Amino acid sequence: MLIQATLTAFGLISSTLGSQHQPRRRYAYGDECWPDTETWNSFNATIGGRLIRSVPSAAVCHAERYDSDKCATAKDSWLDSFWRTNQTGAYAATLWEMGETGKCFIDTSIDAPCDQGIVPHYSVRAQSIADIQASVRFASEKDLYLVTKNTGHDHLGRSSGKGAFSIWTHNLKGIEWHDSFIPMGAPEDANGVPAVTLQAGEQWFDVYRAAAKQNALVVGGSARTVGAAGGYLLGGGHSPFAHDYGLAVDNLLEMSIVSADGKYHVINQHSDPGYFWAVRGGGGSAWGESIKLFPNVTDAGYTGYGDLSQGFQAIFLKPNSSVKSFNQTFAGFFNLTQIPGVHGAVGAYPSTWNGYLDKFLRDPNIGTNIQDTSRLLTTDVINQKSEDLAEFLVRNGGGGFNFIGKVNNDERDNTAVNGIWKQSHALMSISIDWADNATELEKHEKRLHAVQISKGFTEIVGQQGGTYINEANP
Ligand SMILES: Cc1cc2nc3c(=O)[nH]c(=O)nc-3n(C[C@H](O)[C@H](O)[C@H](O)COP(=O)(O)OP(=O)(O)OC[C@H]3O[C@@H](n4cnc5c(N)ncnc54)[C@H](O)[C@@H]3O)c2cc1C
Repeated sequence: MLIQATLTAFGLISSTLGSQHQPRRRYAYGDECWPDTETWNSFNATIGGRLIRSVPSAAVCHAERYDSDKCATAKDSWLDSFWRTNQTGAYAATLWEMGETGKCFIDTSIDAPCDQGIVPHYSVRAQSIADIQASVRFASEKDLYLVTKNTGHDHLGRSSGKGAFSIWTHNLKGIEWHDSFIPMGAPEDANGVPAVTLQAGEQWFDVYRAAAKQNALVVGGSARTVGAAGGYLLGGGHSPFAHDYGLAVDNLLEMSIVSADGKYHVINQHSDPGYFWAVRGGGGSAWGESIKLFPNVTDAGYTGYGDLSQGFQAIFLKPNSSVKSFNQTFAGFFNLTQIPGVHGAVGAYPSTWNGYLDKFLRDPNIGTNIQDTSRLLTTDVINQKSEDLAEFLVRNGGGGFNFIGKVNNDERDNTAVNGIWKQSHALMSISIDWADNATELEKHEKRLHAVQISKGFTEIVGQQGGTYINEANP
């Protein structure tokens, strides 16, 4: 049974979408117009004292914020994505705490520098729509640089900002199942559908557990702590179930948002089709043979994740499949492993979704300084450029497939997601990362390398190529 998500998300999407306005710099901490302490205190009183001075995740191990117990916990939990998403100032990739020049590291001495980096200065631990409205109004009134942070998983650093004021949605929890949901303002004869309403702070791990109890299926992502109703959804949302049911945005029935003027709106296809459109997405040569086999498996409904570095490895899923179907579909991969000099294994692993969750689902790249560069691979690119792509990947130290699959595109033209998803079978990514103690020069060179990778991708897939907004190079 497919549960279509009404996925309630509290958005801060400005109603000037699509206008020609130049971006304007708003006030950040350190600017002359940043509110004084008295003004912050008065504001804090209106939101029940939920204003937090947010700090980087390693701050408890340094100088005046040093706390030996908390520092020990931070060291033990450094790579734990649950620990990270539970904190206002922690981000999945520490790059988005420190930015390019900040310094506050977990493995340096107590006296080593610990600055704020690009962690927002103040955050509101929102507990209600009223908190969000008050915060948005305060930010508008004081013309503040405002960001929204949910889990801090964003690959592009959009949930942090130097000197920013932030609304933290993580504690807005709530999962409500509906047997027959009808969007507000739908025609009288509209039929209801099974659906779930998620509050903005819900994470996939909890949603999957709740869905299992309901015997329901939700189109969600392949990570436990990524937010279900935040950046994932606003960017499109790919999923192991995308072949059958499309991207997450294709299943969105309704969304509640707080607009930049602090007003609360329920938007859907009936109330505001234009706005509703915009919030859905408007955010080694031999191995080339493996890539060439993608269309066969993706057209058959298998969805996977993999990487190509020491060879090609991937895991594919298909709900309600059988070993027979797997063996037929993956015969090409099996034949590859029989080529002399190629070592490999291909096997079916019958499991339940919960079995997959327990055994395979992890949160990669936590506590690192990582940036992605990616391209969607269309049928033409796969047919004509697989070997070039594989060589390119190997030349650049390997890379991954954040998504391999054919999405159900029935709703594609009704959303703002890049139309290239229609012809695509996979999202190929190459990541770069640097050590916390990398010098400015080293970081600069790494970033330049990422730009070169992006240019290299363009040379192969052409100027018409596209990528997935949530996993693109910042
Ligand atoms: C380990 C990992 C696995 C992933 N797996 C997948 C996957 O399987 N499928 C997939 O499609 N993507 C996947 N992604 C990419 C993911 O979609 C993006 O990182 C996404 O931006 C995360 O959203 P978030 O709300 O959890 O994170 P955040 O960093 O908190 O927010 C991301 C962006 O959304 C905005 N935002 C968040 N909540 C709201 C809100 N309520 N209102 C308005 N704006 C909001 C933030 O301002 C920011 O711009 C994965 C990422 C990671 C790190």
